[in-house]
Amino acid sequence: MLVDFLDLKRQYINLKDEIDRVVIKVLSDGHYILGNNVADFERAFAEYCGSKYAVGVGSGADALFLSLVSCNVKSGDEVVTVSNTALATVNAISRTGATPVFADVDSRTLTMDPDDLQRKITSRTKAVVPVHLYGRPCDMDRLTRISNAGNISIIEDACQSHGAKYNGRKAGTMGELGCFSFYPTKNLGGYGDGGMILTDSKTKYEELLKLRYYGMGKEGKGELPGMNSRLDEVQAAILLVKLGYLDAWNDKRRALSEYYIEHLRELPVALPILDEGDGNVFHLFVMRTKRRDELKNCLASCGIGTLVHYPVNIHLHPVYSYLGMQKGFLPISETASEEILSLPLYPEIGLDEMDCVIKKIRDFFSGSTA
Ligand SMILES: *Cc1c(COP(=O)(O)O)cnc(C)c1O
Repeated sequence: MLVDFLDLKRQYINLKDEIDRVVIKVLSDGHYILGNNVADFERAFAEYCGSKYAVGVGSGADALFLSLVSCNVKSGDEVVTVSNTALATVNAISRTGATPVFADVDSRTLTMDPDDLQRKITSRTKAVVPVHLYGRPCDMDRLTRISNAGNISIIEDACQSHGAKYNGRKAGTMGELGCFSFYPTKNLGGYGDGGMILTDSKTKYEELLKLRYYGMGKEGKGELPGMNSRLDEVQAAILLVKLGYLDAWNDKRRALSEYYIEHLRELPVALPILDEGDGNVFHLFVMRTKRRDELKNCLASCGIGTLVHYPVNIHLHPVYSYLGMQKGFLPISETASEEILSLPLYPEIGLDEMDCVIKKIRDFFSGSTA
């Protein structure tokens, strides 16, 4: 049996009638940029998350960049984030001219270690970008306490955690700004690029409306150093349909993750921790083993797709060599990058497919590859 890492067509087929209807309606209505669909989806997503305002933008990367710009982050400033994240998180920081600074992560959750954040803060730290990695919210209480003490803005990278909860609050609503991506593979994904910024600040909201639209204010005058980064009407219409299913999909992801955990727990591997009420929405199911490459190759040879999120920490990418960070600077992030493996997990995966993955992993560790 072949098991794809992810098959997005299944979700489309399940929703085909609804999706096709709204897409055709946008096409025939003739209003393609910043119309009712974007406004309706912004309102619905803000309400779903429990935020006052939402601004649809072109991508998750742009959501992060524009949020940093709205906090006046610029050359000479430092922004603390983590290194075990999507390249986009760090790109957004360096695009402002600011210097990315990396905090190491907690070995249990692989999210930003508040103690290391404390150590990395300097007089130049302007913002902190914690990443709710794999669907698991960061330790926001401690990160917020440390950031508030230094008068530092928190911009949440919630691109992997649509609907995730932390102490009753949704990811993306705990910082000054929260950033989302609607890249097709995310828990809430479109059929193209898209992103969203959440904020409770009216001032920031009004500024972001200008920033995504050339920086244009009243009477078409350029007021801010803006760009073109708009969520489009077709994606917004699709996302509005899909938002209605997000909670059910997230519940399914969690139930399927419990299934993996139950059937892999006796093996010599580290599995995601399931804390009572932890609010993890399992964007990815990531296990750890020192024999990662061997296991990955073995699964690939029997037709099972896996991925590594992420194989190289961002501080070791060539484009960031100017930061002068070497291997050994972030020991927990670096060790994790050699041991992590993402298994196939999405709401439409079949139990027969998961059973096949489980069996091959069990065979691998019992020494038989039959
Ligand atoms: C997907 C992702 C992004 C970037 O989103 P795009 O829409 O692809 O620009 C940023 N951060 C994290 C953690 C992501 O997973």
